[in-house]
Amino acid sequence: MKTIGLIGGMSWQSTVEYYRIINELISEKLGKLHSAKCIIYSFDFEEVAEKQREGRWDETGRLLSDAARKLEESGAMIILICTNTMHRVADTVSDSISVPLINIIDVTAEEIKAKGLKKVGLLGTKFTMEDGFYTERLGKYGINVLIPGVEEREFIHNVIFNELCKGIISTKSKKRFLEIIDGLKRKGAEGIILGCTEIPLLIRGEDINIGVFDTTFIHSRKAVELSLI
Ligand code: GLU
Repeated sequence: MKTIGLIGGMSWQSTVEYYRIINELISEKLGKLHSAKCIIYSFDFEEVAEKQREGRWDETGRLLSDAARKLEESGAMIILICTNTMHRVADTVSDSISVPLINIIDVTAEEIKAKGLKKVGLLGTKFTMEDGFYTERLGKYGINVLIPGVEEREFIHNVIFNELCKGIISTKSKKRFLEIIDGLKRKGAEGIILGCTEIPLLIRGEDINIGVFDTTFIHSRKAVELSLI
């Protein structure tokens, strides 16, 4: 089994989910008392979030590259950035290491293609929904992306940072998320990407009657698959 390196803490609420899912899948696949070989580098999220807010993406790229190198030096053979937003600097991070970085956008795109969908709605931080790095990368797979309206994007972004990243799960916010998802469905979305690793804490597959792409789960599952090759 290969050791998985997780660049986490962004936020720790979703890193816990990665740790749980990866261990559950290893246990399902190997049985007995097997569990994942894994190393977590966990950031103080405020230090990263402050740079995100100020648009200092180059600095975040350096921070995450440094973490990735430390994970590699410690024996990680596969590395994951446990947040969609920070995939804005994924190529910088991947260039700084010699082991594979599993890109969350690529593995989500492969899953969407495998289900035969062409048009999907994307929920995530404003950076993920608006800055182009995510939608353009999906576009390379021939996937059309619908994003919510401007006020809805603001709402989703605020729920992520003010509630989900702090472990607050609100039924009122969930109701509004489901309304936003309904709006995307009416505009032709055949599936919805939960493109923020904390959103699956609020919205589950069974809440929506079209395809749901839970990026935390898809990313974790890919790591497990590769760790067992
Ligand atoms: N974990 C979130 C994501 O998947 C948001 C936190 C962040 O800004 O990194 O995008």
